[in-house]
Amino acid sequence: MDFANILFGGPCNRACPFCIGKQLPAALGQNNLRIYPLRKQDEFVRRLQQSQVRQIVFTGTNTDPQLYRYEERLLNELRGQLPGAQFCLHSNGALALRKIDVFNRYDRVCLSFPTFEADLYQQLMGSPRVPDLAEILRHSRVPVKISALAAHVSSAFLDRLRELGVQRVVLRRLYGIHESVQLPQGLNLQGSYRGNPVYDWRGLEVTDWTFDTCESTSLNLFPDGTISPHYLLTRAS
Ligand code: SF4
Repeated sequence: MDFANILFGGPCNRACPFCIGKQLPAALGQNNLRIYPLRKQDEFVRRLQQSQVRQIVFTGTNTDPQLYRYEERLLNELRGQLPGAQFCLHSNGALALRKIDVFNRYDRVCLSFPTFEADLYQQLMGSPRVPDLAEILRHSRVPVKISALAAHVSSAFLDRLRELGVQRVVLRRLYGIHESVQLPQGLNLQGSYRGNPVYDWRGLEVTDWTFDTCESTSLNLFPDGTISPHYLLTRAS
């Protein structure tokens, strides 16, 4: 087991047409944004304490984890229960500036940020309000990785990220859609990470992540209390 996910469910502040949460059984996306403790939180922590897993991700099935009312309380409690563990936030960044104090309490953050252009952002995220990435990075005290969509990445986009001081980008394919993608010319292959190619873009590390073939394993706490080693819960047990 490489890491653990704590998954939040409920209404989101974005409306991405290809949200992976919409492809999961409805029960797994049920609203847990206002409950504390989370369903089966204690059992999940016990299983982590008995395991070697020390990488824990706050993420969502169909919502953004920063919408969780008790985000800071949960993070603080888990830090006490799992000494030495590292905590990562996966977020769309919409609340990052408003909740910058808790944002900076994670060990690192991965932001879904597909474009700087409002029109394209609207198309991909269902809202024209592009988070102010430059301002988020200016206030961030923790490493921030950018998660973008491989089909929409351009050399200008990568250059802009690099100019803003971003060091790592992961390019995602839309789950379940076998799209053929033309990545920008000039990416230099440097190696691979868990079967996914890693490139250099003028000092920016770019990983081309094919979710379907990823070799990582995780323990997942879903919003309904399901604890499963399978992220894609068509295989839940
Ligand atoms: S931001 Fe994430 S959780 Fe929200 S709609 Fe988009 S993909 Fe789904």
